[in-house]
Amino acid sequence: MIHGGAGTLTRDAITSEVEAGIRADLDRALSAGEAVLSAGGTSLDAVVAAVKLLEDSPHFNAGHGSVFTHEGHVEMDASIMHGPTRSAGAVAGLRTVRNPIDLARRVMDDSPHVMLIGDGAERFAAERGIERVDPEYFRTERRWQQLQDVRAREQTRAALPPEARYGTVGAVALDQHGALAAATSTGGMVNKRWGRVGDVPVLGAGTWAEAGCAVSATGWGEYFIRLGVGHEICSRMRIGGQALAEAADAVILKDLPALGGDGGVIAMDAQGGLRMPFNTSGMYRGWIAADGSRGVAIFDSEADPDGRD
Ligand code: ASP
Repeated sequence: MIHGGAGTLTRDAITSEVEAGIRADLDRALSAGEAVLSAGGTSLDAVVAAVKLLEDSPHFNAGHGSVFTHEGHVEMDASIMHGPTRSAGAVAGLRTVRNPIDLARRVMDDSPHVMLIGDGAERFAAERGIERVDPEYFRTERRWQQLQDVRAREQTRAALPPEARYGTVGAVALDQHGALAAATSTGGMVNKRWGRVGDVPVLGAGTWAEAGCAVSATGWGEYFIRLGVGHEICSRMRIGGQALAEAADAVILKDLPALGGDGGVIAMDAQGGLRMPFNTSGMYRGWIAADGSRGVAIFDSEADPDGRD
């Protein structure tokens, strides 16, 4: 299961050409993950393959196409977690790493740490031979324009527009060995300052995986951190005995709006059950269920395996 961010996504807000491009890239990301899993590969490799494809797409706020900070840089965050072992890796504030999810994986596999940030993380990338690029690579005209718009509105003290916040990407997967994994990657929030880091690299908030449950989130990161969204959903199942749907819906459709936050998650259990609740008007999402059925969706009105009205 994959996501490409949640937010104020209405049919008239995107052209049909962009919409087709988004759907095609979601579908390609699903195929990239599926290719790994159907060849007997691990869920960790599958989530990395899917997330990398979305990082490389200009349509999403991660890797190429990330949003800009107040100062006009790109500062990306990512994390990954393996359910059975709870191995995890996270990175924050990256400016030159082409695929932040690759570096998060490397932190997990090839360092004694769980989280690396900023210059140190970039040095670790250089030492481990992870591809780095000129920051110009990340720039898309749309995101640059978005920063100018938000900065102009800021001067008039208007609130940050909801559509300016989202576009994070993520994946969760279950492999033939019964192992769950989750991965998430983002440029964060447009116009962010002061080294702001959101929920994406905070394990237990934007990304979480344990033996019976895996979650990748998108939304207003500060609220996802305060609720410990990923960990909360999985704890409701492990300790509270709740089913996946009940646990994920309670956190995203009740706890999150009660606190004032918005966004959504993709969540999976160890039987391959899927849940993808969001409390915004849309969430870019895609899934391949255990029975092989497959789909991508954007708007709230579109059917997905949740079967919610
Ligand atoms: N959760 C991300 C953040 O707060 C934003 C998003 O999901 O688009 O950094």
